Amino acid sequence: LLHQASFLQSAQRLDQCPPDEGLEVAFAGRSNAGKSSAINRLTSQRTLARTSKTPGRTQLINFFELDEQRRLVDLPGYGYAKVAKTKRNEWQQHLDHYLAERQALIGLVLMMDIRHPLKEFDLLMLEWSAQANMPIHILMTKADKLKFGAAKSTLLKVKSQLKNHPAPLSLQLFSATNGTGCEDAWNKLGEWLQV
Ligand code: GDP
Repeated sequence: LLHQASFLQSAQRLDQCPPDEGLEVAFAGRSNAGKSSAINRLTSQRTLARTSKTPGRTQLINFFELDEQRRLVDLPGYGYAKVAKTKRNEWQQHLDHYLAERQALIGLVLMMDIRHPLKEFDLLMLEWSAQANMPIHILMTKADKLKFGAAKSTLLKVKSQLKNHPAPLSLQLFSATNGTGCEDAWNKLGEWLQV
């Protein structure tokens, strides 16, 4: 099903989103965490999510349709030093609004570069997941950048730091470059999207 993903529409605000029905899984991560690469890898489409470095382009919420009742959502990331604080606050408001209001949203996939886990943005997402009791699945991306032992120990460390998270939480290693963790991520998405 994931391979059928096709671009549906972009939205800057909640009222520009597709009708709030069916099931949606949202992808979030700091800029450069590897979110676009992960989405492209998971859908086996090289250009679905633009792996563009241009700040500003990422400020839109992008919807990808899997079928009539299921969507993936690419949320705006932040973390570019270049982006002004006011602009950043604006993004955050749109993001907050989407996260708080969207009924179709059933799970959040959070991408974190395995070399830079649990930054401010990630903590915000975790906080929101806790408050909303929203299931969260963490991809520790670019796992190929570390030796397997080091990657595994970072995973365990982060896992133990999050062991008291009140909402359903799971985490795994992932690499868009060599495909590590694809199977696990597919399984989680399948579970959430009921396919
Ligand atoms: P985004 O800003 O979160 O969408 O990040 P991108 O997907 O555009 O990736 C940011 C940079 O990290 C790009 O140069 C990618 O080629 C690189 N990258 C993404 N995923 C991986 C990965 O799994 N392994 C490695 N080695 N590099 C990656």
